[in-house]
Amino acid sequence: MNSIEDSIRIVRERIARACNISGRPESDVLLIGVTKRVDRERIQEAARCGIHDFGENYIQEARKKIEGFEKEVRWHMIGHIQTNKLKYIPGLFDYVHSIDRRELLEGLDQYGKTMKVLFELNLSKEESKHGAEEDALKGMLEKIGTLTSIIPAGLMTMAPYGEDPEEARPLFSQLRETLQRVNREFGLAMTELSMGMSSDFEVAIEEGATMVRVGTALFGERI
Ligand SMILES: *Cc1c(COP(=O)(O)O)cnc(C)c1O
Repeated sequence: MNSIEDSIRIVRERIARACNISGRPESDVLLIGVTKRVDRERIQEAARCGIHDFGENYIQEARKKIEGFEKEVRWHMIGHIQTNKLKYIPGLFDYVHSIDRRELLEGLDQYGKTMKVLFELNLSKEESKHGAEEDALKGMLEKIGTLTSIIPAGLMTMAPYGEDPEEARPLFSQLRETLQRVNREFGLAMTELSMGMSSDFEVAIEEGATMVRVGTALFGERI
């Protein structure tokens, strides 16, 4: 298995190539290291090797790692959020990618901490996937003006696990088109597209991803 340092270099090279192909500067794409089930030592190692953004799926697990973390990094909540765990989010995270219902949005606003949020869309329509339908997204965006501490930053989606990354391309382009459409409709200027994981982030970058969430390619297979 590669060292974390080598894995980071390989992933950065893959990102650079995809940016090159699509005529985008590398600075357009933020690499988020996904650290579910990765211990704090190895996250620390990745931070030493230059990763500044980490994504966590589970609040309880994240609390153990984030509190007292030795380096200045940013933490992104990317997993499904249970309403009763919402209260921990403002203290732990800088970004939330997985807002999929109004209850979360309005709940989060109550804490008064400025938070950047992305709305998670379920474009693959898989039963097992979380995320809002487009109507629910619009319902949330209608409320944005009444909230005081929420900064709407963009959209997030998860493509189904498939053998061929090309299968995800239509979903990624659909997310980009949806961002443009809702920005126009609601007079917003959201810029972030959080899409692409270890197996398909090149395709996501070609379709406009500004944030890629990469776990396995950096830290190895999860056990
Ligand atoms: C686990 C996870 C990832 C990373 O997946 P890999 O295939 O390991 O790169 C990205 N996004 C979310 C929401 C995840 O849960």
